[in-house]
Amino acid sequence: CEANPSKSQSVEFFTMDTLMSLTACGKNAGAALRAAQAEIIRLDRLFSISNPESDVYLVNHNGGAALCAETAALVRESIGLYELTDGAFDITVYPLMDAWGFYSGEYRVPSDEERARLLALAGSGKLALEGDALALSLPGMGIDLGGIAKGYASDRAAETLAENGVTSALISLGGNIMTLGARPDGTPWRIAIRDPLDESAYAGIVRVANMAVVTSGGYERYFELDARSYHHILDPATGMPAQSGLISATIVCESGMLADGLSTALFVMGEEKALSFWRAHADLFDF
Ligand code: ADP
Ligand code: MG
Repeated sequence: CEANPSKSQSVEFFTMDTLMSLTACGKNAGAALRAAQAEIIRLDRLFSISNPESDVYLVNHNGGAALCAETAALVRESIGLYELTDGAFDITVYPLMDAWGFYSGEYRVPSDEERARLLALAGSGKLALEGDALALSLPGMGIDLGGIAKGYASDRAAETLAENGVTSALISLGGNIMTLGARPDGTPWRIAIRDPLDESAYAGIVRVANMAVVTSGGYERYFELDARSYHHILDPATGMPAQSGLISATIVCESGMLADGLSTALFVMGEEKALSFWRAHADLFDF
């Protein structure tokens, strides 16, 4: 596309609560992009919190459900991340997210008492996944795949583009970036990391090919009340928006799913814990 810009094509659409844009090069780019978009929309139907037909909704409103194999696999990965991150990544924050008003948009600050009660319903150790059947062990429990779904979707979008003959593409699902191959001229993609304190500036640039670059931060989604701001990434230990001292955390690795889950988790951990996690798990960050 560098040689012939008319051959680079893009699609933009809004799903999973975020603006997505996919750009691909090559002869079949148009059809490939449509297939990748359809794939992401299919995944949104499985993982949506609010769609009454989604696997996640069925679980949350029936105390469990027989899941599609793909949803079960993502829940299994999420439980693995819960264990790996010492509970920092926890899809059972659902009742807490709900109490804070993040699903309805009717924001409020739950009292200490309410948070304590809801914390008893959190903890991925309380999920029972047998085969593809997920059971919640306590009434009021629920799951929220919002911390990992976009990363998984970016992996699937890249695979779909590749299956359709695309060798160079840039996938942006909100803050979740996935690169397929290098740029058409063979040089790495240059991904700017936004400066969390200044929307018009960037904190740095990473050069990558076939890699995900995912950032989690408290500045993306938040509400303000009584001159305080409350963001959407909860510390599962307290039920409060994580206040680890970090403004954002960016993960670069091959798997978009892992990058997404870990960016959420390492943001919760804070700098010191996040750095020691990174050192202890260098194998996960293969760049
Ligand atoms: P974004 O979705 O804005 O890119 P994240 O990937 O960090 O950001 O995901 C945040 C979302 O993950 C929240 O909106 C909520 O759905 C869910 N979530 C919040 N706290 C946690 C947590 N500690 N572990 C796992 N998921 C979480
Ligand atoms: Mg995440």
